[in-house]
Amino acid sequence: MRDNSYIGERIKRINAALPDGVTLIAVSKYHPTESVQAAYEAGQRDFGESKAQDLVKKQQELPADIRWHFIGHLQSNKIKYIAPFVHLIHSIDSYRLLQEIDRHGAKNGRRIPCLLQIHIAKEETKFGFTPDECISMLQDSAWRTLQNIEIRGVMCMASNTDDVEQVREEFAAVHRLFLEMKERFFNDGENRFDIMSAGMSDDYPIAMENGSTHIRIGSGIFCE
Ligand SMILES: *Cc1c(COP(=O)(O)O)cnc(C)c1O
Repeated sequence: MRDNSYIGERIKRINAALPDGVTLIAVSKYHPTESVQAAYEAGQRDFGESKAQDLVKKQQELPADIRWHFIGHLQSNKIKYIAPFVHLIHSIDSYRLLQEIDRHGAKNGRRIPCLLQIHIAKEETKFGFTPDECISMLQDSAWRTLQNIEIRGVMCMASNTDDVEQVREEFAAVHRLFLEMKERFFNDGENRFDIMSAGMSDDYPIAMENGSTHIRIGSGIFCE
């Protein structure tokens, strides 16, 4: 058996240093069920996966009180697998995807919490709405007719760079956008708009200084 004791120690160390109001999501993609179990035994309950089939497989094998977050690029034909149980989908990058998730939410008799992914990094490859696209989608109030999704906030990934100032500026820009959207579109008391999912192993302290409420840490927990 592999010695997984380092996993629990890291979970405890990271959680002990988190300010109130920040949730740690342990990103278990590419890591086996036993590693997730080790984190679970250290008290961790929020886990993230980036592939629908991995999410489903782990959900079936692991304790039922785990909150499963979907953080990867979601294809429409995969929604049905995760719709019955997913806790939060972080990666909405089109209105069409939101509509599809709404349809599956209705089939499952639930309202599925979602985050709008904001493309802020310099890299071309990352998915998400530009800030302008996101604002115009919300301005067109068609989304308000979707009864089986709930838009809870935003998600972003900063540029993969050693330039700390650039990373800080990107998180700060997303936080300003988050506050603007909350004020303009979610201030009617009907919607909770309270989640900013930002920060990974290498940049989560900077994300927390800039309004992040949910950090997503993978290698910093699971890699030896
Ligand atoms: C893999 C991944 C993470 C975790 O990244 P680490 O650098 O391993 O902490 C966080 N968010 C998303 C969207 C990811 O794909």
